Amino acid sequence: MVICSRCKSNEAITRIAYAKMNLCIECFKKFYVNKLKKTIEEYHMINGEDIVAVAVSGGKDSVALLHALRNAYPKLEVKAIHINLGIEGYSKHSQEKVEELAKQLDVELHIVDIRKEIGISIDDFKKTKFKGKMCSVCGTVKRHIMDEAAMNIGANTLATGHNMDDFMTFMVKNFITRQWNQLVKLKPVVPPLMSGMPKKIRPLIKFPAEENMLYCYYTKIPVNEVECPHSKGAKTLEVMKILNELFKDEPNMKYQVLGSFLNLISLLEDAMKEEGVIPCRKCGFPSKDGLCSYCKRIELVKSISK
Ligand SMILES: [Zn+2]
Ligand SMILES: [Zn+2]
Repeated sequence: MVICSRCKSNEAITRIAYAKMNLCIECFKKFYVNKLKKTIEEYHMINGEDIVAVAVSGGKDSVALLHALRNAYPKLEVKAIHINLGIEGYSKHSQEKVEELAKQLDVELHIVDIRKEIGISIDDFKKTKFKGKMCSVCGTVKRHIMDEAAMNIGANTLATGHNMDDFMTFMVKNFITRQWNQLVKLKPVVPPLMSGMPKKIRPLIKFPAEENMLYCYYTKIPVNEVECPHSKGAKTLEVMKILNELFKDEPNMKYQVLGSFLNLISLLEDAMKEEGVIPCRKCGFPSKDGLCSYCKRIELVKSISK
């Protein structure tokens, strides 16, 4: 039996390779919440007066984030936002899990059902030119609705559950395709693009997917384990697989590469002049040409559904 390196009494259930520690269940949970606190403080993500909306999809990352944030800062004003995307065989189940969790944690939950509120579902994009890019179009729609929902409930900060593997994947993808505009957005904290919009924070930037999974497992919180039917074969999943293979024997290197990317991004940001944004004529959100990418996509899908 391997003994926990922290309490030196219980049996260890996991090894945190980059920290060279074996931890038992209780010490792992403490380690996780502590690491979240440290990350939030390192990047000055939250101050005492903030009202934080957590975007909870029901997947392991966002669920772990909401639970651990509650534990780390019991006095912080936290609300949860869930978007029902109207995805057949997926969305209903996700919503149920999030409702269960919010109840358990006694967190105010706001649900946006896009079929009711906008009159479309993500599945409708199957009939458009976005049919091969379902994750990307879903991302655009979600980002817009999350911002809007956070503003509607008076939150000035929006926390999302992007984990370390998501970050690394986006970074590599945008690096290879030279999407510098997208690359500079990959930061732990993104200030509001326009006044009145929430600041965005990504507290799980240093948490590999498996740590979030373990946290969910050992805290026994409700998680949606059904995979989104549109994510099958997504390019990002392939990049993620390759990266995991690359860092398999060198867990520390993952942190080094993440650090190098964050460094590069801040240099890039200084070198690049912030592109001018103008308000969208339909929704008032930032856009490049007067109609934001969200409104363009909704217009398209509505014109085809008719
Ligand atoms: Zn222990
Ligand atoms: Zn718009």
